[in-house]
Amino acid sequence: MSTGKLDAIVVGAGFAGLYMLHRLRSLGLETRVFEAGSDIGGTWFWNRYPGARCDIESMEYSYQFSEELQQEWEWTERYATQPEILSYIDHVAERFDLRRDIQLNTRVESARFHEDTSRWTVTTSDGGEHDAKYLVMATGCLSSTNMPDFEGLDDFEGDWYHTGQWPHEGVDFSGKRVAVIGTGSSAIQSIPLIAEQAEHLTVFQRSPNYSIPAHNQPLDPDKVAEIKAHYPEFREANRQTAFHANFGYNEANALDVSAEERQHEYEARWEHGGLPFLAAFADLVFDADANETAAEFIRAKICETVDDEETAELLCPTSVVGCKRLCVDTDYYATFNRDNVKLVSVRDNPIEAITPTGLRTASEEYEFDAIVFATGFDAMTGTLMKIDIRGVDGRPLQDAWAEGPKTYLGLAIAGFPNLFTVTGPGSPSVLTNMLPSIEHHVDWIADCVAYVEQKGLSRIDATPEAQAAWVEHVNEVGDSSLYPRCNSWYLGANIPGKPRVFMPYLGFPPYAEKCREVAERGYDGFALSA
Ligand code: FAD
Ligand code: NAP
Repeated sequence: MSTGKLDAIVVGAGFAGLYMLHRLRSLGLETRVFEAGSDIGGTWFWNRYPGARCDIESMEYSYQFSEELQQEWEWTERYATQPEILSYIDHVAERFDLRRDIQLNTRVESARFHEDTSRWTVTTSDGGEHDAKYLVMATGCLSSTNMPDFEGLDDFEGDWYHTGQWPHEGVDFSGKRVAVIGTGSSAIQSIPLIAEQAEHLTVFQRSPNYSIPAHNQPLDPDKVAEIKAHYPEFREANRQTAFHANFGYNEANALDVSAEERQHEYEARWEHGGLPFLAAFADLVFDADANETAAEFIRAKICETVDDEETAELLCPTSVVGCKRLCVDTDYYATFNRDNVKLVSVRDNPIEAITPTGLRTASEEYEFDAIVFATGFDAMTGTLMKIDIRGVDGRPLQDAWAEGPKTYLGLAIAGFPNLFTVTGPGSPSVLTNMLPSIEHHVDWIADCVAYVEQKGLSRIDATPEAQAAWVEHVNEVGDSSLYPRCNSWYLGANIPGKPRVFMPYLGFPPYAEKCREVAERGYDGFALSA
């Protein structure tokens, strides 16, 4: 157990918490990071399922705050694997001597703001109580696993796993009958590899997803050298784009070009692979008819790939392309041509219970040796809402967000002074390449803290008016797009009872501009107290 007085507490030791520690330390602030896991890495510590890798190219899914770091690190593949990303994170921690201020195996349980001192008291799972002026929640957008409340799980006689809490020693499925529940990104990455190993695999699909081939490959040394020769310019160019990534944006609208041109563009992007597919045309996420042209293209690819007509039909989504995060795969659809793989739709035939020997849907009973829950996360708010956070007047965050999250810029919450959220709801976060978006937030928070310190202020708090205007703007921009049209985790639709609110902000460049203006105007929209 440890107790003590600090300048700043950071919760979480993923990409966000590590860089936040580095920045706060460089301001001369005594900072401690608390991490619930037994090691650093966040997402890349927890998600160790077979096939886990990034869906943004490695050369972009990496820190840019240190030119030396980005020059010296050598990625081996176009899309790095989970172990490679974790060793990168370890390298960063060693290089910047971060570990000495990180307390592992320690969950933050509560945080309470004291109006008399303008400081936070944080309690931790080891019985510790810590006092700090600043509290930074670097708790991650996808860090609270969603385990559906299936009856009977406790009595299951086989083994079960959640992709987001995968055993460190790995899992051997050889000779086993395996079920995977879910067909989101985690499932789509793991299914082809589980299918290769297991005796038999049954995939339970509630909603089909669009997936684009990764065409993963070893990185071409010439391409790496070219990027490294101009890394800052490359990063700056990406910062000027909606997804904060090098997607090769096409400014044309899908509906303004001929059918042949559209087909040509989609075909080229399918061949290129990955998320840049979504940047094929400017109107794809705004115009339903434009989007349908992309949907038709992908459905045709699925039907070309999958031999069995009925299975192909089940795998074809009819939803809006991109309104759930597009998946990136290696051999996902082709895996359904294997003799040992079966697809079961549970859309109209839901899983009713886990039985001692398998699971039961409304119409059938199945037997398994192992079940993999690839059922996702209580995204963006779940992790924060699990901590008992109380702001001014002892108001719980659970109350403040009862109707859905309300923030100013996804960085601060009115009534919770000196508390910051990295990639909080109301910021572009999950709609972008998250790593540069995390760095953008950390830099903004560090600059803000430096400002408060330089001016000798005791607290900074978003005003309710500025927050309300921002929330309204986030909703307006979201509503102008097709994003609210499907039951995605962006909307909280995957969690029973969660308020249905489109949580991220669409569009990085205008967002970054707004953040810059707010800071330049002496933290416009914030109340600053002596
Ligand atoms: P996290 O990495 O989630 O770290 C948060 C940490 O906070 C965790 O370690 C958690 O244990 C800790 N924590 C939470 N609550 C507490 C508490 N109360 N007390 C103490 N510690 C706590 N994004 C992309 O842009 N590209 C990708 O390719 C990509 N791939 C992904 C693949 C998977 C499988 C998943 C799940 C997400 C992926 N993401 C991707 C999103 C990814 O979450 C971010 O890119 C990034 O890693 C998040 O970093 P973070 O530090 O903000 O949060
Ligand atoms: P997800 O996208 O939310 O997928 C969860 C899946 O489980 C969905 O198919 C969902 O069906 C299904 N499901 C949930 N509850 C169910 C139930 N009761 N019965 C049947 N099916 C159920 O979660 P994820 O795959 O873990 O991905 C989450 C996010 O993490 C991604 O969108 C992405 O941002 C990130 N990620 C990225 C990568 C990568 O490629 N680098 C890999 C993994 C994750 P419905 O769709 O019907 O709800």
